[in-house]
Amino acid sequence: MSTTTSTMRAVRVSAPDAARLELETLEVPAVRPGTVRIRVGACGICHSDALTVHNVFPNITFPRAPGHEIAGTIDAVGEGVEGWSVGERVGVGWHGGHCGHCDRCRRGDFITCRALQVPGMAYDGGYAEYVVAPAVALARIPHGLTDAEAAPLMCAGVTTYNALRNSPARSGDLVAIQGIGGLGHLGVQFAAKMGFETVAIARGAEKASFAKELGAHHYLDSNAGDVAAALQKLGGAKVVLTTVTSSEAMTPMLGGLGIDGQLLIVGASMEPLSVPAVQMIGGRNSIKAWPSGTNVDSEDTMRFAVTHGVRAMIETMPLERASEAYARMMSGAARFRVVLTT
Ligand SMILES: [Zn+2]
Ligand SMILES: [Zn+2]
Repeated sequence: MSTTTSTMRAVRVSAPDAARLELETLEVPAVRPGTVRIRVGACGICHSDALTVHNVFPNITFPRAPGHEIAGTIDAVGEGVEGWSVGERVGVGWHGGHCGHCDRCRRGDFITCRALQVPGMAYDGGYAEYVVAPAVALARIPHGLTDAEAAPLMCAGVTTYNALRNSPARSGDLVAIQGIGGLGHLGVQFAAKMGFETVAIARGAEKASFAKELGAHHYLDSNAGDVAAALQKLGGAKVVLTTVTSSEAMTPMLGGLGIDGQLLIVGASMEPLSVPAVQMIGGRNSIKAWPSGTNVDSEDTMRFAVTHGVRAMIETMPLERASEAYARMMSGAARFRVVLTT
């Protein structure tokens, strides 16, 4: 059933208060009923990996390997799994499994499952050479994407793509993307390719040419002036997709919304968001947040990326340098997505 050696390298957080990543040699995990084992080709490093490293997500048991932007090849198929076979290329993202019996699952809304399994939290994630994941969480990787290209689409990609395609914006509408880092630089590409009049918002004049390269029709430097007024001058945004992790930075975007405009939050900020209520009433505005997507949404994201030429900009680093790679991402020194390769 399997062609693996018996040990593998993995990078894990050893204890609840360890707050650091350590390279280990472990037994290759056995495939269980309902799961497949994936030989990991690449795993993106997401800001949310900090939830595991710093043990701030509920019910994580340790030791634990982070990583929920997994791309690789099925290496073994567990009992009872149908529709998947050894050798298929698959990804696993934030949606790493669902219970199937809670009220949300019974309505088919698996991403909001009360017992949603996130790889790297519910079970060992992609900072390893092998991962065992539930078959219900698998996304097929299309031809045309390498593992390193597919990995960031499993969280950063599906989150921005799925938020935009489920938003009230329609082709031709003014859509702004706040932040052009890991999520935002994908959001700008997706928005432009979806046919929105796309505005990229970031700090610093030097990012203007990059924003245009990504397909933005307009660039607004939030250091240089009143972004809300600039958005109003363009007609007011139907959607501002905010990928930044500061609530304080999100608030001014409300002033840039057009009638029925929506602030759409995918950036994970822990601070409260202050809201100018009166102004929102006048513009019939709304605030919504969006949680990633399921495995099928990830498949759609990857197919769209292949068809329309959307790619994450990545820096690859070998798995054994995961700790350094993670620190680089957290420090903000990494320009885009850092992807671990095995
Ligand atoms: Zn993520
Ligand atoms: Zn459920």
